[in-house]
Amino acid sequence: MRNLVKSENEFNGYLNILSNISVPFIILDENYYINKVNDATIKMLQNIYMKENVKCFNEKVEKILWFIKDEILNYKSNESLDFSFSKEIQIGPVNWRFYGQFLNLENTFILLLNYHLEKNDCMKKALQLSSIVNSSEDSIIATTLEGKIISWNKASEKIYGYTERKMLGKEISALDIWGSKERLSELLDTISLGKEIKSHEVKILNKDNEEIFLSLSITPIKDHIGNIIGACSIGRNITENKKLNQELYNSEKKFRSIYEQSPIGIELFDANGQALAANKSFCDMFKIDHISDFKSDNFFESPFISEKAKSMVRNKKNSRITCKYNLKDRSNSQTNKSGIYYFDILTTPILNEQGELASILSQVEDITKIKNVEKKVRNFTNLSDDVFCILSFDGDFLEVSPGLQKVLGWRKSEFIYKNFRDFVHQEDIEYSIDCSINLLKTGRKVFRNRYICKDGSYKWIEWNSFVVKEDMLIYSIGRDITKRMEDEEELRKAKIAAEEANSSKSNFLANMSHEIRTPINGIMGMTDLTLMTELNEEQREYLNMVKTSSQHLLDLINDILDISKIESGKFNIDLVPFNLQEKINKIGKNFSLLASKKFIEVLYFIDPRLTDINIIGDPIRLSQILMNLLNNALKFTEKGSIILCVKKIESSKAKIRVQFSVSDTGIGIAEDKMNKLFKTFSQVDDSYTKKYGGTGLGLAISKQLANMMNGDMWVTSKKDEGSCFYFTAEFLTTNDSTDCTLDITELGPNINVDNYSKTILIVEDNEINQQFISTLLYKKGYNYLNAFNGIEALKILDNQVVDLILMDIQMPELNGLNTTKAIRDYEKLTKKHIPIIAMTAYAMVGDKEKFLNSGMDDYISKPIDFKTLYSLLKKHLD
Ligand code: ADP
Repeated sequence: MRNLVKSENEFNGYLNILSNISVPFIILDENYYINKVNDATIKMLQNIYMKENVKCFNEKVEKILWFIKDEILNYKSNESLDFSFSKEIQIGPVNWRFYGQFLNLENTFILLLNYHLEKNDCMKKALQLSSIVNSSEDSIIATTLEGKIISWNKASEKIYGYTERKMLGKEISALDIWGSKERLSELLDTISLGKEIKSHEVKILNKDNEEIFLSLSITPIKDHIGNIIGACSIGRNITENKKLNQELYNSEKKFRSIYEQSPIGIELFDANGQALAANKSFCDMFKIDHISDFKSDNFFESPFISEKAKSMVRNKKNSRITCKYNLKDRSNSQTNKSGIYYFDILTTPILNEQGELASILSQVEDITKIKNVEKKVRNFTNLSDDVFCILSFDGDFLEVSPGLQKVLGWRKSEFIYKNFRDFVHQEDIEYSIDCSINLLKTGRKVFRNRYICKDGSYKWIEWNSFVVKEDMLIYSIGRDITKRMEDEEELRKAKIAAEEANSSKSNFLANMSHEIRTPINGIMGMTDLTLMTELNEEQREYLNMVKTSSQHLLDLINDILDISKIESGKFNIDLVPFNLQEKINKIGKNFSLLASKKFIEVLYFIDPRLTDINIIGDPIRLSQILMNLLNNALKFTEKGSIILCVKKIESSKAKIRVQFSVSDTGIGIAEDKMNKLFKTFSQVDDSYTKKYGGTGLGLAISKQLANMMNGDMWVTSKKDEGSCFYFTAEFLTTNDSTDCTLDITELGPNINVDNYSKTILIVEDNEINQQFISTLLYKKGYNYLNAFNGIEALKILDNQVVDLILMDIQMPELNGLNTTKAIRDYEKLTKKHIPIIAMTAYAMVGDKEKFLNSGMDDYISKPIDFKTLYSLLKKHLD
């Protein structure tokens, strides 16, 4: 070798080449420790050591290559330059032949070792076997008797998940190869005795820790002369089978538990109808302990099963029947003393693969309770006077209760399978069809129509119907409401009559008030005029008394009118803008004047938050309530003071809520009388009426007015100490800051020279009123003309120039509204506009819109207040 190699580097280069050659070579250091080997060496050693991983580096060479130990020692002792040898040796079952050569390279030795197998018969067989073994689906593993794995086929790799390379040489005990580690030595002992271990089931864990079930058998391996040298296990993977079996087992178990625990009774018969088995529910239902008590039962001979059901089962069809059983002897049930039970039995034929009847399955349900309930419900419907019906979606009667005959006289058979349209009154058919369409849409409907009776008469029926969609049925309960309909009709007529009477009462009151008011206006007007003339003290006193009495009479009539209007719902609250502070100041001032006569002090306070704001509401009605309360306070107070308070209690963007209170130090009201106060015509004490006068209407009206303004009225009082009346009212707020108060200029009796140029036409049928108004106009220096009805007025207008017309509304011949219309029509030609002021009775103030719509410019209510009249004239003439 040295001859061949020129340098160390060159040697190493060769060494690299040599490492790839197929002849094993081993480089040893001077102490004969192995320093380097090539791949061929490792392969050889693995073959010899039965594929055991050989750790050869830094080992004494004679230890690893024990089979050529003598040759190595021989070389070592001589260290001759070249030394070669040939040796045949049996290792395990195999005969090996080695051809070796030592090379000395200074302090390094190289051993080249060629080798081959001397194949004996046993070996050949083994090789044949190994190819079979590797193609097997079963795991085949061979071990030595000590338990070292010497063979590991492909199927083992697949099953256990470990490669052959990894497993060869390992102890069988290292892994759970044969199932249980504990039994391993016992297994190997058995094998070493030459006995087989028969196929048995073991559970192993594979590399991925999955459970695998194997059917495992182990047999001894013998050498060619029959010595037992190892064990061979064959394991078949039965995991899939196991799983299938388990599933089958589980499903069997499941069905069994369903069978056993089902609340439905289950009985099984053989093909001949002989009872085989029954579950617990079945035994419970029929009050038996065990199916053997029923064993004598034969499906086909049972008296309880109908012939039809039996023949259906024979013909391999399902049958469903309801059976009635008397179980009195068996049952001591408290709940069912009669012992009669009803069962719903569904029988199913079970066929074999050839389609022949193999067995019969009956499923039984105890429907005794349902049957009993059904019976009770039937009793209900049968006894009821209502008609219970079941209809198809097309409106055909499918079921009707006996109530039908009671109500309409028809027998059930005359009704059933007929359509409802055949019985409904001709006039109600269209409506009834609409109702049934609506019923199908909404699921529920109550409606009434007329049905023909057997005797040809009609009855009103009220139907309460509902739809049961899943059954496609309509359930309807019909009730005879003929009597109720007649009563309702009578009531309706009575109501119309009452309404008519009420409205004629209202008309009567309106007319009467007008009629009464006219003479009162006359009396008051004339009294006023007379009071303007020269009179002695006595005359003036009497006339003032006339005036006061007339005023009271007028107040009374106004009260009666108000209350009757409120009661008939014809009372409307006006919505006009006004200034609350100004209103209160005016009322306060006027009232102070009145009270001062009785030496009673009047104080009035207004919430600063309410000053300087305009609100929208009905100022006239507000004054009416306040004046009523103030007048009462004055009437029932002899000394002390009266306080009027106004305060804001709530406000939103668009609304404001105000509380008014009037307190006095008067006679007070006893607690038990207070609840009567706000009722019409009620006074606390009759004796007061005598002392104080009054109608008992004021508070009732006031409270109603407060209610109409979304408010309320109440009182707190103590007898002999005083009372405080409260009311609340709601107003709309307005941003409009224009002065809303009517500009009533105080017009004294001094005559205005300008007025002589103006001519006013007074259209009024009442002579006294004519005279009164004429005097008022005359006193102010106006020219005036008189017309006693519309026709006269139109005649005058044809010939005279008129600057303004004062027009009465109710007049004979041509009334005020129609006269105004005629004037306005005529003016369309002349293109002029004469202001017309309506003079309306108090009763008609509410009709203001009507007057203005008919073309009038303004209105003044009677009795005519001269100041108001003058201010209106000024307004329209200037
Ligand atoms: P009338 O016209 O009789 O005054 P009202 O309805 O205004 O009718 O009042 C009904 C009754 O309530 C009165 O008759 C009186 O008995 C009682 N009443 C009303 N206001 C007061 C008050 N301020 N003090 C004491 N009693 C009062």
